[in-house]
Amino acid sequence: MPFIDLPPWMISLLLAPFGLVLGSFGNVLIHRLPQEDPAERNVVTKASHCPACKARIKPWHNVPLLGWLWLRGRCAECGWRIPGRYPLVELLTGLLFAASPWIFPFGTLIWLKGLVCGYALIVLFFTDFTEMMLPDVIQFPLMALGVLLTLPQLLRPETLVNIWTAPGALLQALAFHNGLQPAPGYQGFEPTVTWQASLIGLAVGYGVPALMNLLYKAIRKTDGLGMGDFKMLAWLGAFWGWAPMLGILFLGAGLGAAVGVPLMLMRRSTGQTMLPFGCFLALATPIVVFFGRALWLGYLGWVG
Ligand SMILES: [Zn+2]
Repeated sequence: MPFIDLPPWMISLLLAPFGLVLGSFGNVLIHRLPQEDPAERNVVTKASHCPACKARIKPWHNVPLLGWLWLRGRCAECGWRIPGRYPLVELLTGLLFAASPWIFPFGTLIWLKGLVCGYALIVLFFTDFTEMMLPDVIQFPLMALGVLLTLPQLLRPETLVNIWTAPGALLQALAFHNGLQPAPGYQGFEPTVTWQASLIGLAVGYGVPALMNLLYKAIRKTDGLGMGDFKMLAWLGAFWGWAPMLGILFLGAGLGAAVGVPLMLMRRSTGQTMLPFGCFLALATPIVVFFGRALWLGYLGWVG
């Protein structure tokens, strides 16, 4: 597989345009999936149009990042100010793709998994941030995919790919490895997310917050977390295993409290203000995936 033998910077350049285009599609998902009207949720055949005046967007105005810059952030027809989220999502997805071969060995399962997870988190962060919802159409397939991604390593556990990292330096990586902490420098290929850890993650990801919610409901008489949050934890559990999923839940809750408590005090709110918890889970995920084990070992050392 000579394609994999390219140096990472060259793979970055080849991947970045795909990221920008998928980022542009991500904006379509973010805008349309939370819509109430099923016809408005069509993300496949409906052409891009301005949400304000419904005018069709010309193809050259729809080029990721450049279109927005060219239009100076306004609709060409009606002058509607295009939210900064549009170029931001394109930029983040472009960066995700460009950064991916530096973080994950290109062409391996963990690389694919990182990209899918990263892209999903960008989209879900913004649907939750803007509309307070996490669409089922995205989350249900991810639950199944998380478990399915553990199967290739059962069938072909020893398959190696060669990765050219520097002149004369060849790194061999397990093609179907899908474990945690691949960064930095492709170090630390253990532990692998097994199908058992994935299935338990799926079940516990949905079950533990559902139980917490029952408790919260009994005490506060209101929902603490939305159902979308459970589904997000369920697919994150399927992707990264049950232990990292619990790490994501606790770190996400901590980040949520760090933002939510001062907000509540400032507004003297009654505690009824809903925070987009999915946003905090999205922020917590990369921290736990890359640094979770180091943080956990550090915590154990500090406790004991
Ligand atoms: Zn317009």
